[in-house]
Amino acid sequence: MPTSALLFTPMLAEVAGSSLEPTHISHPLRSALRRTAVVRGQITRIDLAGRRIILAADQGGSPHEVPYDELVLALGAVSNFLGLAGVQAHAFDFKSLWALGDCAEVPNAHDNQPSPPTAQFALRQAKLLAKNLHASRSGGALKPFRFAALGVLAVIGHQTACAELTIPLSGGKTVRFSGLLAWLMWRGVYLSKLPGLERQVRVLTDWVIELFFPRDIVQTIDLQPAPAMFETAQPVPQRADVVVPARPGRD
Ligand SMILES: Cc1cc2nc3c(=O)[nH]c(=O)nc-3n(C[C@H](O)[C@H](O)[C@H](O)COP(=O)(O)OP(=O)(O)OC[C@H]3O[C@@H](n4cnc5c(N)ncnc54)[C@H](O)[C@@H]3O)c2cc1C
Repeated sequence: MPTSALLFTPMLAEVAGSSLEPTHISHPLRSALRRTAVVRGQITRIDLAGRRIILAADQGGSPHEVPYDELVLALGAVSNFLGLAGVQAHAFDFKSLWALGDCAEVPNAHDNQPSPPTAQFALRQAKLLAKNLHASRSGGALKPFRFAALGVLAVIGHQTACAELTIPLSGGKTVRFSGLLAWLMWRGVYLSKLPGLERQVRVLTDWVIELFFPRDIVQTIDLQPAPAMFETAQPVPQRADVVVPARPGRD
């Protein structure tokens, strides 16, 4: 089941390391997309001829259908052709079907290579797709995807990162460095990319707290197996069966 929030994946490792709260890197779709009707569901089938998607049934309910004029597939890294033989071969010939992000092989006109599966590219593909959708409806010309990667930043340890940045207007030349400067740059860049001022402030606060206090690690779930009574659904004792032990010093 897809989540109901945008997940900021670059900071997932910091959530796993207890530096950040999980909710601070998740942005609820309903508050992020205020002029959009959000329907959360697992797509089980696409009816290309009938222009509708079929969502899995909720508990005990019947499958839900959503009609569409234009369908954009952005299903992430695990490419799923939803059990429809032939969709993989023919899907992109349908004028009403578009794909982007990790699930699509989007050629980059900048270097004639397939785009790498990163958010840096997925975001730009989404913006171009919106323009191309508008152009296709208004009779305008479609533009190919063209983007020169900005570079790569990766955290590799405590207050240490490595960077490979493309020098602007240099014909693709890059500069590499690592250490504290790269780490500060990583934090600055990704903080600015976090969607929403509120989340930026929350993450910045988490980072400042982490400077002065140790990580707040606490086990909130019981990893022991549940008691046998809950596993095998033992009958609840009736009132007459309940034996109240006598208290010492009374009766
Ligand atoms: C740990 C980690 C760190 C990363 N760090 C970086 C980084 O630093 N910089 C960078 O540029 N990129 C980074 N990436 C990559 C980046 O997250 C992806 O490139 C980006 O999220 C791709 O966007 P997308 O929309 O194509 O797919 P996703 O963000 O994966 O979204 C796909 C959505 O489709 C939903 N879905 C799938 N199947 C169905 C179905 N049948 N029915 C309904 N919904 C479905 C999924 O639940 C999901 O919500 C990172 C990824 C990970 C995992």
